[in-house]
Amino acid sequence: MRLSRYFLPVLKEDPKEAQIVSHRLMLRAGMIKQQAAGIYSWLPLGYKVLRRIERIVHEEQQRAGHIPLLMPTLQPADLWRESGRYDAYGEEMLRITDRHKRDMLFGPTNEEMITDIFRSHVNSYKDLPLTLYHIQWKFRDEIRPRFGVMRGREFLMKDGYNFDLTKDDALHAYNRHLVSYLRSYERMGLQAIPMRADGGPIGGDYTHEFLVLADTGESEVFYDSEITDLKFGDRDIDYDDHTQCQAVLEEFTSRYARTDETHDAALFDQIPEARRRVARGIEVGQIFYFGTKYSEAMGATVVTPDGSRVPVHMGSHGIGVSRLLGAIIEASHDDKGIVWPEGVTPFHVGIVNLKQGDASTDSACEALYKELRASGFDPLYDDRDERAGAKFATMDLIGLPWRITVGPRGLANNKVELTSRKTGVSEELAPQEAVERLKAIYAPVFASDNG
Ligand code: ATP
Ligand code: MG
Repeated sequence: MRLSRYFLPVLKEDPKEAQIVSHRLMLRAGMIKQQAAGIYSWLPLGYKVLRRIERIVHEEQQRAGHIPLLMPTLQPADLWRESGRYDAYGEEMLRITDRHKRDMLFGPTNEEMITDIFRSHVNSYKDLPLTLYHIQWKFRDEIRPRFGVMRGREFLMKDGYNFDLTKDDALHAYNRHLVSYLRSYERMGLQAIPMRADGGPIGGDYTHEFLVLADTGESEVFYDSEITDLKFGDRDIDYDDHTQCQAVLEEFTSRYARTDETHDAALFDQIPEARRRVARGIEVGQIFYFGTKYSEAMGATVVTPDGSRVPVHMGSHGIGVSRLLGAIIEASHDDKGIVWPEGVTPFHVGIVNLKQGDASTDSACEALYKELRASGFDPLYDDRDERAGAKFATMDLIGLPWRITVGPRGLANNKVELTSRKTGVSEELAPQEAVERLKAIYAPVFASDNG
């Protein structure tokens, strides 16, 4: 993309309404625009990152064997009357009446609807196990929408639902989700710690929340510092293998890590003092096993091998796709702006032309731009007729992890400058060397994209 032709409405001033850094930077970098309290338009740069995160979530869900579908945002109230949640859900549910005076609602989650799909089409244990998921807009009429996309009213969520014959199988689905979530967050450059959580309105005996540590997080968390040494890395897990998935769950959840709702001071005190941590965290996902709660209420049953009929065991698993943009920025920024991890960056690299209009600088930039695109990169070329300082400030604000600076002085020696946004360190390289360097840097990202 050429910046002169892009739509990147950056703000010069700090927006007054933003209380936390991610909200401020998303507004300043022209990523979102508020349309009503907790409701946002996703401007091109924000939309690009949103799609990128969505893609990672899709890939990791499908790698785990989970099947995508798409359910509507609007749902009939009658489904929710069957589960008893139409009344129980309370003020957060946006209720709508259509022209025929039918009660509808904007879905805050989809347990009822997916259970309805299941009971309409699945009849036998032979069709299990089954995990279906979608990435769809949700609406919750939050009493205090705030912090930009972190606590919106309309927000994008991945929600998945497993259907299993036995509790054991359903717990395998639970473990599989935990593994796939660890992988997903790491691909986004995040450490999200699974913490024992509280069932909340969805209910359930087994549940973990995934928290990203950040001072602006809304949850208070208590954990053993050893947990932050754990990395999922590039292990090759067979998702069908119960033992392997269980082992990952044990490795990542055996140390103390809890939100304030489940915190147990006596247990916490057993950890050596030097390792006890009290901090704040942002919830970026949650997994649940809730047994037959919905399948019993809504008649989602299957025929077993011995011919009897039993309600299926279920769980639900959510990732806050739009909230993740805020969480990533909270975890990765400096005073100049955002610092995108390579896995989610809107553009892989920025090209800054220091002397727009100079024939040889322009043609070197054009050649680089072409070469990068031919090598599978998505570069942003700042071809505006602007001062170098303004171009650098824009690149720093929007946070592309790498920048190539091209100017007449360097070109005289066939050199451009490759700069890391994170460290600020620059290297002088021949243009072709810079491309090769970027290929090596992005090799793991491209490999997992296609893997
Ligand atoms: P919270 O406790 O933050 O209100 P929740 O526990 O009610 O969230 P879940 O039902 O577990 O949310 O939804 C799954 C994920 O969706 C959450 O982990 C979170 O990342 C995201 N999410 C929930 N509510 C919002 C919101 N209002 N705005 C943006 N993302 C949200
Ligand atoms: Mg939750």
